[in-house]
This record gives sequence, C-alpha cells and structure tokens, in this order.
Amino acid sequence: MKSKYDLLVVGGGPGGALAARTAAEKGLSVLLVEKRPAIGAPVRCAEGIGKEAVAEFVKPDPRWISAELKGADIVAPDGTTMTLASEQAGSKVGYILDRKIFDRELVWQAAEAGADVAVKTRASAPLIEGGAVKGAVLEFCGEARRVNAEIVIAADGVESKFSRWCGIDTTVPVREIMTSAQYLMTDIDIDPDKTVFLLGNEVAPEGYLWIFPKGDRTANVGVGISGKKSGQGHRARDYLDRFVSKRFPKGKTIEHIVGGVSVCQPLACTAGDGLMIVGDAARVVDPLTGGGIYNAMFTGKLAAERAVSAISDGNTGKRALMPYDAAWRNSHMGKTIARNWQIKEYLIKLPDEKLNAIIHSAATLKMKEFSTLSLIKELMKRNPRLVMELAALKASLG
Ligand SMILES: Cc1cc2nc3c(=O)[nH]c(=O)nc-3n(C[C@H](O)[C@H](O)[C@H](O)COP(=O)(O)OP(=O)(O)OC[C@H]3O[C@@H](n4cnc5c(N)ncnc54)[C@H](O)[C@@H]3O)c2cc1C
Repeated sequence: MKSKYDLLVVGGGPGGALAARTAAEKGLSVLLVEKRPAIGAPVRCAEGIGKEAVAEFVKPDPRWISAELKGADIVAPDGTTMTLASEQAGSKVGYILDRKIFDRELVWQAAEAGADVAVKTRASAPLIEGGAVKGAVLEFCGEARRVNAEIVIAADGVESKFSRWCGIDTTVPVREIMTSAQYLMTDIDIDPDKTVFLLGNEVAPEGYLWIFPKGDRTANVGVGISGKKSGQGHRARDYLDRFVSKRFPKGKTIEHIVGGVSVCQPLACTAGDGLMIVGDAARVVDPLTGGGIYNAMFTGKLAAERAVSAISDGNTGKRALMPYDAAWRNSHMGKTIARNWQIKEYLIKLPDEKLNAIIHSAATLKMKEFSTLSLIKELMKRNPRLVMELAALKASLG
C-alpha cells in the first residue's frame, strides 16, 4: 500500500469493485479497502438480479451463477398465485448469483486492471484539508495509516459511515429500513426455475417474503419487513421462522443472515469536495424491490468515470464532481428509483383485501417482457383506480 493514490475506494462490494475497476482501467492509481477479512463474505443478499443487468458490467460466468430463472410466482395474502411464466417472460429473466464468488470476481477484475486491494482494512476517518476530502485514516490489525487521495469514493454499503464523517446526512427513517432475515435452506421442495414472492400483513408487513432458488433443493428463503413493524416477537426472523416451520418443516438451514435494506429516497446529494458516494451508501436501492446490486455497480462505474475526468482537469471540488450526481439521477436507474419509491409508498398502505383484488385481476396476465415496470403497467391496466390513487399520492407528496 502506498501513502498516496489518485482514488481511494472505501468498500469492496459491487459498487466499490466497479468504481475501482473502471478507474484503474482508465489509468488512475487506485486503492480499494474492505474492512472484512474476505471479499464477498458473509453474503447479506438474496442474490437475485436481471440477466441484462449483469451483462452490462461483466461477462456471465457459470462459476457465480447459482440458478437461471424461467419465471416467478407472486402470491397474494389469500394464497392466490399469479405466475409469470417463461413464455410470458421472454428472455428478460434473471439469475440467482453466488455473491461470494461474484463479488470476488469483480474485485479480481479491479486488481487485474491495476488497483491495489487491502482487506481487513477499515477506513476509520476522512482526511480533510481546507474543507475537502483528501484521503482517509486506514486501520489494519490495530495499526493506523494515513493514505492521501485526490478523490474518495464511499462505497461502504447500507451501514455507511464515511460520508456521515464528511458531514453528509445519511439518516434513513426507521420505517424505510427493511429489516431482513434470510436462511440458506437445503433439502426443501421448491421449483428450481422460479422465484416466489409472498405478500401480506401475516407474512411480511410492508415488505415481502422470498424464495430464491439456488439449486434443485436449495434456496435463499428470507423476509423483509418495515423497521417500524419490527418488535419483540414480530421481528423479521419471527416471520421467517413461522413460514419455514409450515412450508419447509424438514428443511435444513446452512446459513443464516440478517441485514437492513434502505427503501427510502436516495441521498439529497451524492458528491462533495473530493468525495462521491455510490451504491447502498448513496441509498440508491430500488425502493420497491430492495434490489441494489445493479444500482451499486452502475453508480460505482459512473463515479469512477467522473473521477477520471475531474483528476485530469485538475479540479476535484464539489462542482466538478456534481455531474456524477446529475448523471445517475437523470439515468433510467435514477428515474426508476423515483417512480418505484412512489409506488412503494402506495403499496405498503394497501390492506390485504386490496392486494388480493389486484392479484386476482392479474390471473390472466400476458407480459411481453419481464420487469417490475411491465408488471406495474399491466396491473394498472386492470385496475384503473390504481392510477387515480397513485396520482393522488404523487400530488400529496409534492
Ligand atoms: C437480506 C438482503 C437481501 C437482498 N437481496 C437482494 C437481491 O436479491 N438483489 C439485489 O440486487 N440486491 C439485494 N440486496 C441489496 C444488495 O445486497 C445491496 O444493494 C448491494 O450489496 C449493494 O452493494 P454496495 O457495493 O453498495 O454495498 P455492499 O455490498 O454492502 O458493500 C459495502 C462494503 O463496504 C465495506 N465497508 C463498510 N464500511 C467500511 C469501512 N469503513 N472501511 C472499509 N470497508 C467498509 C463492507 O464490509 C462491505 O463489504 C439485499 C440486501 C439484503 C440485506
């Protein structure tokens, strides 16, 4: 590790890895630090992602694809199932990744492009000069080192502290943190080609329960509920245990994770003097689905591209970095987040009876493509009141 780099990336998840890889490929000297002893572990993710989303950043490789999906079941509170089958889904379906290998692959690619990588190395404070971020204090096995950088990219995930230390408000309202629990279960009867989403207050208040197959008899089985619905006896894990004891009484749990997903709006500003914030740290998770792998990679790459231009122009101040903020907000990803946040705010207020009615109406759904947007569009066609109520919500939110 050197004492000075062009770019310091804090966090070795998909956001940090894409930032480091992109910047190193374009000739910057880069250091990526990860506080955990291994990249990719422990996994705190259900590992679902669209095929096209992956292909935008990395060539698909069977080593890190656990399952290739052919469809999805959405189960209403009363048990009615809406099936989105492969013939409806066309080619736009997804993968269940093996993130232990996927995340490593991305960081290997960054290292191969020339980035230095340090694991078990925690950024514990920013270095600030004249109000601008100029690097960080890095702790490795109890030893602290100051490492200077022209720009720091904070890719430190949902628990992000780095940008807060730099004076940016990163608070997420409790009701907009999905608290989650997930078991990797084996020896269970599942359809290995389909994801399953279960909705309703009994199963997952203001959230959903998922079964994401990772093989013939193995799946990530998890539940996310609103932080404000969580409490003694009704935490995410309690909902999960109740479901699992009924549905998979003989299944074996081989991994157990808990984690939070922010389903709020993104940070008001994701750039500062010498600083850019990407991925979960920027709160760019899709508020409707809780998916953030793609958004982390997308923002990581964009931030690195901006870093390259800013450094070559010799100006790493906030104004020079703000085009990064504008670029992701104006992108398809940014617009999807804005739209899906409003839809999420609408859906979480629906009583179970209304959710049942919406899913009943969709029993004969025929979709040309398999995406959240096409699903919402089809549901709206069948439920014109949805459009009016969403419009009213939009107006009330300003
Ligand atoms: C239960 C659950 C299920 C999910 N399921 C899905 C899903 O199916 N599909 C999907 O797309 N998304 C899913 N997500 C969200 C997804 O996991 C994240 O959006 C994604 O990992 C974000 O990537 P990132 O690089 O921003 O952050 P992360 O992957 O969280 O990486 C951040 C890294 O920064 C490191 N770090 C933190 N602080 C420091 C520091 N001070 N110094 C050095 N390193 C630091 C952390 O150890 C971590 O490795 C899920 C999340 C949860 C919790």
